[in-house]
Parts: sequence; structure tokens; C-alpha cells
Amino acid sequence: MDVERLKNEVCESVDALTEELLRISHEIHANPELAFEERHAVATLTEALVASGLDVDTGAYGLETAFATEFGQGEAGCVALLAEYDALPLIGHACGHNVIATASVGAGLALARLADRLPGRVRVLGTPAEEHGCGKELMAREGAFEGVDAAMMIHPAGVNLATMPCIAMAEVDVTFHGQSAHAAASPERGVNALDALVLAYQAIAQLRQHIRSGERVHGIITDGGQAPNIVPVRAAGRFYVRAPNFKKLAPLKERIEACFHAGAKATGADVDVQWGGADYRDIHYNDPLAKAFQANAEKLGREFFPFEKLPPSFSGSTDLGNVSYRVPSIHPMLASAPSHCIIHNPEFEKWAGSEMGDSAALDGAKALAMTVLDYLADADLRRRSHDFFDVQLPK
Ligand SMILES: [Zn+2]
Ligand SMILES: [Zn+2]
Repeated sequence: MDVERLKNEVCESVDALTEELLRISHEIHANPELAFEERHAVATLTEALVASGLDVDTGAYGLETAFATEFGQGEAGCVALLAEYDALPLIGHACGHNVIATASVGAGLALARLADRLPGRVRVLGTPAEEHGCGKELMAREGAFEGVDAAMMIHPAGVNLATMPCIAMAEVDVTFHGQSAHAAASPERGVNALDALVLAYQAIAQLRQHIRSGERVHGIITDGGQAPNIVPVRAAGRFYVRAPNFKKLAPLKERIEACFHAGAKATGADVDVQWGGADYRDIHYNDPLAKAFQANAEKLGREFFPFEKLPPSFSGSTDLGNVSYRVPSIHPMLASAPSHCIIHNPEFEKWAGSEMGDSAALDGAKALAMTVLDYLADADLRRRSHDFFDVQLPK
């Protein structure tokens, strides 16, 4: 099999699909939807897959806004292409997931055109709820990665990077229940749920001096009471707790939970602590696959920023981490905005729908499709990526 020829073909297919792919990217960008609510994005993406003759399963693996399609045959295994499409409250696609969805679905459409010349299988997975809810972990528990040998996606950023600096993360919702009373006439009869939350918030703020430099905790108040003249009977917040890896997350979670209980104890309020159903894992980086992707993206003219030169504090979390502990996975980042511009910023939202975002979506589709071909055509790359996965896997 002439892999270079197939690579040329998938790149030509992405070129031929440019108008359609950018329409999809702009459509999702203009209609941001939050985690678990991405119905319009799913309709837009699955319509394109169905129009190209693929059978698509929506509501796949237990999530209404997930989808799956698989094609190809052969002994070389199965590669999953992961499409994210959820957005952020108020700032829309400031994480540029429209670019991710377009790149993975674009790669899938280009590879599907190779039909029976594909030396293995490709599974395109629509993976909702990345920003919140850890959708890929929920899908994995329902079997989304059974029969999958490797997983790939790209993420937009301000520079091209072989992978994302990634740490583990837990989500927690905390609710304090107090006793309402007239705030002026009979405050002594009240138990102030907001005071409990503020005390917990301050306890966490003071704890920050004494946690490790790679650990992070940040939160917001989602319910601060009912009216100034009523002692708040209910107050609630949402916090994210992060540590360099999954193992270090557990003790930090305990320390944060202690802060919540301290607020409750000091005020007499009751506290309800609800940790998310799934924690986000750090990325188990796969060097052979990341290098294969980088070589393909460099052929498209992209220059990669040296990972080791990133500021040590620069990190985020992704549910691709959970996939990366199951199968060799990559999460390279493609420049979709100028280097000063960082994700989760309103300025990034504009770039995700700009020509720079478009170019990342198209290059992402090409580089992903080429890397899938590398994996399926090259038994040595498969062996090296699986050896790397096994040897580096923390025991
Ligand atoms: Zn994000
Ligand atoms: Zn993101």
C-alpha cells in the first residue's frame, strides 16, 4: 500500500470539502451550546456524515448528544477520531470546540472516501460535555473505546503544540442549608448559609498558600442567598480542584472538602458536597503518535512551539486524559489565534470563527487523516505507540 499516495488523496478530499467543512465550523461557532445540550451541533455534524453515506448512531454510549459511526475493514486495528462541540457559558466557543469537531469529522469524511483501500477501521465519535461533566469518561464506561486501538483529536490554541500540558481535575458542587429569619428583626434565629459558603471560600483561599505549585483550586458562588432582608437559607458554589495527576488529586479533594465542613461547623449550617460522577485524568502522553502527527502538520507548513519552553504554570484539563489511559492517544494543539491569545477568553472566541480558526480546522482534518493512515499502514508505529503506552503507564 502506498501510504503517501493515500495521504495525498485525503488532503485533496479535505480541499474539496473546504466549503462544507467551514460551513459546519461556522454553524457550530454561531450557535454555542453548553455541555449535554449540544443538539444543534450534533445535527449539523451527523447530517454531513449521513450525506456521505455513513450510518450514524446518535445518542450513542448513553449520552443524548453523543454520536458514533465506524467504517473500514482490515487487520490494522481501529482508530477513533474524537469530535468535541460544547461551548462555555457567556463566552460561547472561546475554547474553539467548533474547530475540533470540524477537524475530526473532516478527517473522517476524507478517510471514508478511501473506502475499501483503508487498511483498518476508523470510528468517528461525537464526544459531548468536555467543559463540564467529563463526557468521554461517561462514554468510555459505556463501551465507546472497546475495539479501539488508538484515539486522536486536535485542540485549538495560540501556538502549535505536540500535546497539551494537562493536569487532573475534579468538579464539586457544594450546597449549604441554613435557617431563614428576618435579617433585621430576628437575625439571632437565623443560620446563615451564605456565611458558611463565604467561610469555606476563604478557607480554600488560605489553603492555597500551602498546596503544591502544580495544584489548583478555583470556584464560583452560584447561589448567594434570596434577599438581603432574609438570612440566606441556601447558598451554593461550584469548585474545580486540580492536581498534576490522578493520584495526587485524592488527598487535595479531602483538604477541600474539609474547608466546606469548616464553613458548616462554624455557622451551624448543613452542608451537601457532591463530587462529579467522573474526575478528569491528566494526559498519558504518547510520544510516537504525537511525533507522527507533528510531522504531518509540519508538512502542511505549521511550526511547532517547543513544549519544554512553555511556562510551567500553563496547564489545563481535558477528558481526553481519561481516554489516554485506556488507549494510545494524542491531543495536539493547532494555532487558531495569535500567540498572546489564550483559550477561555472572549478574544479567543472571535479567532475560533476567523480565518485562523478555519485554517486550523482544515489543517487539523488533514493532519489527523494522515496520522490515522500512518497508524493503520505502519506496523512499526503501532508497536512503538503501544510499547510507549505500556512502559510509561503509571503503576
Ligand atoms: Zn475549554
Ligand atoms: Zn477545549
